[in-house]
Amino acid sequence: MKFPEIEIGLAGLGVMGRNLALNIADRGAAVAVYNRTAGVTRNFIEHEVGNRAIYPAYSIAEFIDLQPKPRAIIILVQSGPPVDMVLKELLLFLDPGDTVIDAGNSHFIDTNRRAKVLANRNLFFVGMGISGGEAGARHGPSLMPGGSRKGYDRVQAIFNAIAAKANSEPCVAYIGAGSAGHYTKMVHNGVEYGLMQLIAESYDLLKRGAGLSVDELAEIYSRWNQEELNSYLIEITAKIFKYRDTATDRPLVDLILDAAKQKGTGKWTSWDAMDLMVPTPSIDIAVAMRGLSSHKAERREASQVLHGPEIKFVGDRDRFITQMKNALFASMLVTFAQGLAQLREASLVYNYGINLESVAKVWRGGCIIRAGLLEGIRAAYRAKPDLPNLLLDPQFAKKLMERQADWREVVKTAVGWGIPVPGLAVSLAYFDGYRSEWLPANLIQAQRDYFGAHTYERLDKEGQFHTDWEKI
Ligand code: NDP
Repeated sequence: MKFPEIEIGLAGLGVMGRNLALNIADRGAAVAVYNRTAGVTRNFIEHEVGNRAIYPAYSIAEFIDLQPKPRAIIILVQSGPPVDMVLKELLLFLDPGDTVIDAGNSHFIDTNRRAKVLANRNLFFVGMGISGGEAGARHGPSLMPGGSRKGYDRVQAIFNAIAAKANSEPCVAYIGAGSAGHYTKMVHNGVEYGLMQLIAESYDLLKRGAGLSVDELAEIYSRWNQEELNSYLIEITAKIFKYRDTATDRPLVDLILDAAKQKGTGKWTSWDAMDLMVPTPSIDIAVAMRGLSSHKAERREASQVLHGPEIKFVGDRDRFITQMKNALFASMLVTFAQGLAQLREASLVYNYGINLESVAKVWRGGCIIRAGLLEGIRAAYRAKPDLPNLLLDPQFAKKLMERQADWREVVKTAVGWGIPVPGLAVSLAYFDGYRSEWLPANLIQAQRDYFGAHTYERLDKEGQFHTDWEKI
């Protein structure tokens, strides 16, 4: 039976799917829902839906049959083979002109493959990144749709309604062709890894280095969140420090095992950045440090044999906290710069046609990396859409230069204490590398030519050269 009022279908009632369905219905669009395990659908309808216009289906055939044509169907299941499994079933029933939106964290190469299959069937395929977790899906996520423009037009009004709002603007925009949406979500996650590592390093320095208590940290990060570091990740960090374990009355953060897990999107970002030859060291090191953290037993053993300097705080604590804030701000800015430089290059190489101002707009609200800083980033790309790197924006260049003395001081202090701050250090090195007209790569070229006859170019003549280096 068809329900003409149904505007959209949603397949996959996991954490994200259930919340997105409720969000869509609350914004006035009737939605058909389906989940592989029928019990999940039943439970959702019985306990969460109430009198909202959410229509359940217990088979794909019924799901398709409920919806008037042209249909628009969001798939929100585990990324990888589950998406192909759902698509395979949908393809048995969909009609030309229908739109399919894959809103999971799919790898962009998979999205390219699926887009071809659907285009051959005259279906519109939208690969969409979604960020904001459970609360975002329920109350307003950041949405990064890409792919078929016609498909996006079909659902644009609904997406505008359900997306987070920043300064009254919806945090959604058509990102670009092909897999641009999923690529942008991937880089979003890479930046997220980088920012989380930087915040963790600042916590380590203030805790082990400056000897601050968790209560003091809660107060500092709350204050920072009111200032230029204002961001979702700083906000939740302050809240985490405030949270006490009810059983022990100790700060819960102190009871959590120091081994971080990952689902792979940070690694995907680094991989493709390396393929594109775009340096994203602040993201790469964040992935590596999650890896190092996971070797807990080995680190415990190493801590018994590898001794470092004694950590002794000398100086003005308040001054150090201010230096830390400036180092963190500069490093976070550099991490955003790397992610956006990667998106710029990917857009050129993969013909996405991404407008970086739109990306900054979409990231300002609803998503995990939302930050006050993004308003300025958006302004920078509005002023100069082809800006090669945020570090070249005059406002941001000034901010970095004003903070570099504190940034260097923090990294030097951390090295002196033997507290690992690879995120802060590599972000500073990126800044120094980027602003160096000369880098020692001439020596690397000479070495490559020495052992592998890979040739080199010269500063004083055109052409490729090779030297028999043994013949001195
Ligand atoms: P959940 O683990 O909560 O739910 C997974 C869903 O996938 C369930 O509906 C499950 O159905 C379905 N599923 C799994 N395998 C298959 C299959 N082979 N065929 C059909 N359906 C299948 O996941 P989330 O809701 O958290 O995540 C969904 C997507 O959203 C993922 O791509 C995730 O990366 C992405 N995402 C998640 C965020 C989060 O914070 N959780 C944030 C942003 C994106 P069943 O009930 O039958 O098992």
